Amino acid sequence: MIIAANLKTNLTRAQTLEYLKNLESCLNENSITQEVMVFPSPTSLNAHDGKIIIGTQNAYGTSSGAFTGEIGSMHLDEFGIKTILIGHSERRHILGETQEEIVNKFNFYKNLGFKIVYCVGEPLEVREAGFEYMMEYISKQYEGIDSNYESLIIAYEPVWAIGTGLTPTSEDIALLHKELKKKLPAPLLYGGSVKVNNAKEVLSIDAVDGILVGGAALNVEDFCTMCEIA
Ligand code: PGA
Repeated sequence: MIIAANLKTNLTRAQTLEYLKNLESCLNENSITQEVMVFPSPTSLNAHDGKIIIGTQNAYGTSSGAFTGEIGSMHLDEFGIKTILIGHSERRHILGETQEEIVNKFNFYKNLGFKIVYCVGEPLEVREAGFEYMMEYISKQYEGIDSNYESLIIAYEPVWAIGTGLTPTSEDIALLHKELKKKLPAPLLYGGSVKVNNAKEVLSIDAVDGILVGGAALNVEDFCTMCEIA
Protein backbone atom coordinates (compact mmCIF):
# COMPACT_ATOMS: atom_id res chain seq x y z
CA MET A 1 0.00 0.00 0.00
CA ILE A 2 1.04 3.59 -0.63
CA ILE A 3 0.00 6.12 1.98
CA ALA A 4 0.53 9.75 1.01
CA ALA A 5 -0.02 13.02 2.86
CA ASN A 6 -0.68 16.21 0.91
CA LEU A 7 0.00 19.00 3.41
CA LYS A 8 -1.03 21.69 0.88
CA THR A 9 -0.36 25.29 1.97
CA ASN A 10 -0.20 24.30 5.63
CA LEU A 11 2.56 23.86 8.22
CA THR A 12 5.64 26.06 8.30
CA ARG A 13 9.10 24.64 7.69
CA ALA A 14 9.67 24.30 11.45
CA GLN A 15 6.30 22.59 11.90
CA THR A 16 7.01 20.26 8.97
CA LEU A 17 10.37 19.21 10.41
CA GLU A 18 8.65 18.44 13.71
CA TYR A 19 5.89 16.60 11.85
CA LEU A 20 8.39 14.44 9.96
CA LYS A 21 10.35 13.66 13.12
CA ASN A 22 7.19 12.55 14.91
CA LEU A 23 5.94 10.61 11.91
CA GLU A 24 9.25 8.81 11.49
CA SER A 25 9.29 7.70 15.13
CA CYS A 26 5.67 6.62 14.98
CA LEU A 27 6.34 4.56 11.80
CA ASN A 28 9.38 2.96 13.43
CA GLU A 29 7.63 2.19 16.72
CA ASN A 30 4.86 0.45 14.84
CA SER A 31 7.22 -1.26 12.34
CA ILE A 32 5.26 0.13 9.43
CA THR A 33 6.48 -1.19 6.10
CA GLN A 34 4.06 0.61 3.77
CA GLU A 35 5.38 3.14 1.27
CA VAL A 36 4.82 6.50 3.01
CA MET A 37 5.03 9.81 1.16
CA VAL A 38 4.66 13.37 2.40
CA PHE A 39 4.14 16.39 0.14
CA PRO A 40 4.96 19.49 2.22
CA SER A 41 4.94 23.16 1.19
CA PRO A 42 7.80 24.18 -1.15
CA THR A 43 9.63 26.02 1.64
CA SER A 44 9.73 22.78 3.63
CA LEU A 45 11.26 20.59 0.93
CA ASN A 46 14.23 18.55 2.02
CA ALA A 47 14.94 14.90 1.34
CA HIS A 48 14.46 12.93 4.51
CA ASP A 49 16.86 10.36 5.83
CA GLY A 50 14.38 7.76 6.85
CA LYS A 51 11.57 5.75 5.42
CA ILE A 52 9.40 8.75 4.47
CA ILE A 53 9.58 9.83 0.83
CA ILE A 54 9.32 13.60 0.43
CA GLY A 55 7.71 14.87 -2.74
CA THR A 56 6.92 18.29 -4.10
CA GLN A 57 3.31 19.43 -4.52
CA ASN A 58 4.32 21.21 -7.70
CA ALA A 59 7.21 22.45 -9.83
CA TYR A 60 7.51 23.97 -13.26
CA GLY A 61 8.47 21.80 -16.22
CA THR A 62 11.90 23.29 -16.55
CA SER A 63 15.24 23.18 -14.80
CA SER A 64 15.59 26.96 -14.40
CA GLY A 65 14.74 30.12 -16.32
CA ALA A 66 12.49 33.16 -16.44
CA PHE A 67 9.35 31.78 -14.77
CA THR A 68 8.64 34.17 -11.92
CA GLY A 69 7.29 32.50 -8.83
CA GLU A 70 7.98 28.93 -9.94
CA ILE A 71 10.54 26.39 -8.84
CA GLY A 72 12.33 24.15 -11.32
CA SER A 73 14.03 20.78 -11.23
CA MET A 74 17.34 22.47 -10.35
CA HIS A 75 15.80 23.54 -7.03
CA LEU A 76 14.39 20.09 -6.38
CA ASP A 77 17.78 18.50 -7.12
CA GLU A 78 19.39 20.65 -4.48
CA PHE A 79 17.14 19.09 -1.86
CA GLY A 80 17.30 15.56 -3.27
CA ILE A 81 13.60 15.55 -4.24
CA LYS A 82 12.67 12.93 -6.86
CA THR A 83 8.89 12.71 -6.38
CA ILE A 84 6.21 15.10 -7.67
CA LEU A 85 2.45 15.49 -7.48
CA ILE A 86 1.00 16.48 -10.86
CA GLY A 87 -2.55 17.42 -11.89
CA HIS A 88 -4.02 17.91 -8.42
CA SER A 89 -7.54 19.31 -8.64
CA GLU A 90 -6.58 22.49 -6.82
CA ARG A 91 -3.93 23.17 -9.46
CA ARG A 92 -6.35 22.35 -12.27
CA HIS A 93 -9.37 24.21 -10.90
CA ILE A 94 -8.02 27.00 -8.67
CA LEU A 95 -4.64 27.72 -10.30
CA GLY A 96 -5.98 27.12 -13.79
CA GLU A 97 -3.43 24.58 -15.05
CA THR A 98 -4.42 23.26 -18.44
CA GLN A 99 -4.12 19.67 -19.61
CA GLU A 100 -1.39 20.77 -22.01
CA GLU A 101 0.66 22.31 -19.18
CA ILE A 102 0.09 19.24 -17.05
CA VAL A 103 1.24 16.92 -19.84
CA ASN A 104 4.36 19.05 -20.44
CA LYS A 105 5.16 18.90 -16.75
CA PHE A 106 4.58 15.14 -16.73
CA ASN A 107 6.94 14.62 -19.68
CA PHE A 108 9.62 16.82 -18.22
CA TYR A 109 9.68 15.03 -14.85
CA LYS A 110 9.27 11.63 -16.45
CA ASN A 111 12.41 12.30 -18.48
CA LEU A 112 14.21 13.03 -15.23
CA GLY A 113 13.00 9.71 -13.79
CA PHE A 114 10.80 11.25 -11.09
CA LYS A 115 8.18 9.23 -9.27
CA ILE A 116 4.97 10.93 -10.37
CA VAL A 117 1.72 10.89 -8.42
CA TYR A 118 -0.74 11.97 -11.08
CA CYS A 119 -4.22 13.10 -10.02
CA VAL A 120 -7.53 12.82 -11.81
CA GLY A 121 -11.09 13.32 -10.61
CA GLU A 122 -14.42 14.79 -11.59
CA PRO A 123 -16.46 17.73 -10.27
CA LEU A 124 -19.94 16.98 -8.93
CA GLU A 125 -21.86 18.05 -12.03
CA VAL A 126 -19.83 15.61 -14.09
CA ARG A 127 -20.56 12.75 -11.71
CA GLU A 128 -24.23 13.62 -11.79
CA ALA A 129 -24.21 13.49 -15.58
CA GLY A 130 -23.67 9.70 -15.47
CA PHE A 131 -20.93 7.10 -15.31
CA GLU A 132 -19.97 7.06 -18.97
CA TYR A 133 -19.74 10.82 -19.16
CA MET A 134 -17.63 10.81 -16.00
CA MET A 135 -15.21 8.18 -17.37
CA GLU A 136 -14.88 10.22 -20.56
CA TYR A 137 -14.15 13.37 -18.54
CA ILE A 138 -11.51 11.56 -16.47
CA SER A 139 -9.94 10.04 -19.59
CA LYS A 140 -9.29 13.59 -20.86
CA GLN A 141 -7.39 14.27 -17.64
CA TYR A 142 -4.91 11.49 -18.41
CA GLU A 143 -4.86 12.06 -22.15
CA GLY A 144 -1.30 12.59 -23.36
CA ILE A 145 0.55 11.00 -20.47
CA ASP A 146 2.50 7.75 -20.77
CA SER A 147 0.37 5.46 -18.63
CA ASN A 148 3.03 2.74 -18.85
CA TYR A 149 5.66 4.90 -17.17
CA GLU A 150 7.14 2.63 -14.50
CA SER A 151 7.33 5.32 -11.81
CA LEU A 152 3.74 6.46 -12.24
CA ILE A 153 1.13 6.34 -9.48
CA ILE A 154 -2.41 7.53 -10.20
CA ALA A 155 -4.58 9.18 -7.57
CA TYR A 156 -8.31 9.26 -8.18
CA GLU A 157 -9.71 12.21 -6.23
CA PRO A 158 -13.27 13.35 -6.92
CA VAL A 159 -13.21 17.17 -6.68
CA TRP A 160 -16.46 17.22 -4.65
CA ALA A 161 -14.93 14.88 -2.06
CA ILE A 162 -11.77 16.92 -1.45
CA GLY A 163 -11.92 18.70 1.89
CA THR A 164 -15.69 18.34 2.13
CA GLY A 165 -16.16 15.31 4.35
CA LEU A 166 -18.10 13.65 1.51
CA THR A 167 -16.87 10.43 -0.06
CA PRO A 168 -18.26 8.18 -2.79
CA THR A 169 -19.66 4.88 -1.53
CA SER A 170 -17.23 1.96 -1.42
CA GLU A 171 -19.17 0.40 -4.31
CA ASP A 172 -18.69 3.57 -6.37
CA ILE A 173 -14.96 3.70 -5.60
CA ALA A 174 -14.62 0.00 -6.43
CA LEU A 175 -16.41 0.37 -9.76
CA LEU A 176 -14.48 3.44 -10.83
CA HIS A 177 -11.11 2.03 -9.77
CA LYS A 178 -11.84 -1.20 -11.62
CA GLU A 179 -12.62 0.73 -14.81
CA LEU A 180 -9.59 3.02 -14.43
CA LYS A 181 -7.31 0.04 -13.87
CA LYS A 182 -8.33 -1.32 -17.27
CA LYS A 183 -6.88 1.82 -18.84
CA LEU A 184 -4.07 2.67 -16.45
CA PRO A 185 -1.78 -0.13 -15.28
CA ALA A 186 -0.21 2.01 -12.50
CA PRO A 187 -0.94 1.69 -8.77
CA LEU A 188 -4.16 3.57 -8.02
CA LEU A 189 -4.75 5.64 -4.89
CA TYR A 190 -8.04 7.02 -3.67
CA GLY A 191 -8.15 10.57 -2.24
CA GLY A 192 -10.90 12.84 -0.98
CA SER A 193 -11.95 13.11 2.69
CA VAL A 194 -10.07 10.01 3.83
CA LYS A 195 -9.84 10.00 7.62
CA VAL A 196 -8.97 7.60 10.41
CA ASN A 197 -12.56 6.42 10.62
CA ASN A 198 -13.02 5.54 6.93
CA ALA A 199 -9.44 4.59 5.98
CA LYS A 200 -9.97 0.91 6.76
CA GLU A 201 -13.02 0.64 4.55
CA VAL A 202 -11.39 2.55 1.68
CA LEU A 203 -8.17 0.53 1.88
CA SER A 204 -10.08 -2.74 1.87
CA ILE A 205 -11.56 -2.03 -1.59
CA ASP A 206 -10.04 -4.38 -4.15
CA ALA A 207 -8.63 -1.97 -6.71
CA VAL A 208 -7.40 0.56 -4.14
CA ASP A 209 -3.60 0.49 -3.78
CA GLY A 210 -3.36 3.29 -1.25
CA ILE A 211 -4.67 6.67 -0.19
CA LEU A 212 -3.79 10.35 -0.69
CA VAL A 213 -4.83 12.26 2.41
CA GLY A 214 -5.13 16.04 2.81
CA GLY A 215 -6.80 17.59 5.86
CA ALA A 216 -6.73 14.49 8.04
CA ALA A 217 -3.00 14.05 7.46
CA LEU A 218 -2.21 17.34 9.19
CA ASN A 219 -2.55 15.53 12.48
CA VAL A 220 0.54 13.33 12.61
CA GLU A 221 -0.98 10.73 14.97
CA ASP A 222 -3.97 10.36 12.68
CA PHE A 223 -1.77 10.02 9.61
CA CYS A 224 0.39 7.44 11.36
CA THR A 225 -2.75 5.53 12.38
CA MET A 226 -3.81 5.45 8.72
CA CYS A 227 -0.38 4.03 7.82
CA GLU A 228 -0.88 1.37 10.51
CA ILE A 229 -4.37 0.53 9.25
CA ALA A 230 -2.89 -0.06 5.80
P1 PGA B 1 -8.67 15.89 1.70
O1 PGA B 1 -7.71 16.27 0.49
O2 PGA B 1 -8.16 14.61 2.31
O3 PGA B 1 -8.57 17.06 2.65
O4 PGA B 1 -10.05 15.72 1.15
C1 PGA B 1 -7.17 15.29 -0.35
C2 PGA B 1 -6.30 15.91 -1.41
O5 PGA B 1 -6.60 17.03 -1.86
O6 PGA B 1 -5.30 15.32 -1.85
